[in-house]
Amino acid sequence: MRYVSTRGRAPVLGFEEVLLAGLARDGGLYVPETWPTLNAEVLKGFAGRPYHEVAVAVMTPFVEGTIPNGEFANLVREAYAGFGHSAVAPLMQLDGNDWVLELFHGPTLAFKDFALQLLGRLLDHVLRHRRERVTVVGATSGDTGSAAIEACRGRDAIDIFILHPAGRVSEVQRRQMTTVQDANVHNIAIDGTFDDCQALVKAMFNDLPFRDALRLSAVNSINWARVMAQIVYYVTAAVALGAPYRSVAFSVPTGNFGDVFAGYAAHAMGLPVERLIVATNRNDILARFFAGGDYRVGEVVPTISPSMDIQVSSNFERLLFDLCGRDGTTVETYMQELGASGGFRVSANQLASARRLFEACRVDEAETKATIAAVQHASGWLADPHTAVGLAAAKHRRGSAATPMITLATAHPAKFPDAVEQAAGIRPALPARMASLMQSSERYDRLPNDVGRIEAYVRERSRVSNGAATT
Ligand SMILES: *Cc1c(COP(=O)(O)O)cnc(C)c1O
Repeated sequence: MRYVSTRGRAPVLGFEEVLLAGLARDGGLYVPETWPTLNAEVLKGFAGRPYHEVAVAVMTPFVEGTIPNGEFANLVREAYAGFGHSAVAPLMQLDGNDWVLELFHGPTLAFKDFALQLLGRLLDHVLRHRRERVTVVGATSGDTGSAAIEACRGRDAIDIFILHPAGRVSEVQRRQMTTVQDANVHNIAIDGTFDDCQALVKAMFNDLPFRDALRLSAVNSINWARVMAQIVYYVTAAVALGAPYRSVAFSVPTGNFGDVFAGYAAHAMGLPVERLIVATNRNDILARFFAGGDYRVGEVVPTISPSMDIQVSSNFERLLFDLCGRDGTTVETYMQELGASGGFRVSANQLASARRLFEACRVDEAETKATIAAVQHASGWLADPHTAVGLAAAKHRRGSAATPMITLATAHPAKFPDAVEQAAGIRPALPARMASLMQSSERYDRLPNDVGRIEAYVRERSRVSNGAATT
């Protein structure tokens, strides 16, 4: 498979280069040149197969020509072997035709593990073949950091440094990062806010001699491989509920538009998806876009679903590219307008074509909490606040009652115990396999908000700067 940039001016690349590059050189995002197809025969053949086997079949066309089939199958099997449920992404029935797809059985209890567990292994594999190493740096307000650390821990070709704001992440979130004992994992608590941490990471990337010397890399959400891995669970869920014979609908709690774009990709590949509901919290740029065609940045407000507190959805550009008939010049014009004036408006035709598949819904805090309580009361199933946004949106935007409605459960309720307890009166417990989290010893250093000090710290510890030989 070859990949093109959404802005049309970067070189066409293969999978390996796209994996390593992340962002395209023209500022765009890479997408497959064509969508591979999943026809009815192929979908029928997926029924009853283990998750990792379907995953290999769905993803192989995207990596073809880069990683030998047998090796790819091994990486995929390993990526999902550590999940806490043998179905990997089990479906639960809530009501007559309403379902939740539990995507929180990975090592950090949120759906980002699906993409990052594979991405870490793919990166390590490709780098080792090239006899290269990278230094991954990132900032986190909680969730992404732990998923990235779990993905990179113990990998020979990667050293990872994650900055979090000291005292401003929850204890569970901090411990998910700091109790990891692998020598290639470095946690830094910064005296400052999450914005300070992000600014420090940005400053390191902008320090070009440092960036080159350390071979800095990010495992951010615009990497194509992350979207690719997320296509798989749309396929397994739809097949479990009757595809290819019947269509299904999904409701997706959304921030950066990565997860729901994977649903769009599954539809583009031939999966019978009747509709995709874009569920947002009060940070509703996407809900406003799908309502009126105006994509306009607002102010970020904190909510009880913090992983969706986003006002610029980076992966949205991938959908925009298709809405513009895959014309990178039009995308570039829109993006310039976004930069210059904080927004842009698409044409009536472009909006109409988006609305053929997508519905959007904004859910406020009160309704999110009421939904956690109501669903718990009706079915005994406990939703985290992100999932609750999806469940509320599913209720409002449901089409035909005959179509199964699948809400993506993006996090385990025990990741957000305070909000869940406040809403439903029940304090969710961590799964048994994580019981030791609150007792394990922690390992992190506390540093001032000073880029010089952070760079010195990274330089001292990264195997890239130490010239350590790769094995
Ligand atoms: C990241 C995240 C989301 C949003 O996913 P996007 O791909 O950014 O739309 C939703 N819920 C949880 C729990 C998350 O961690």
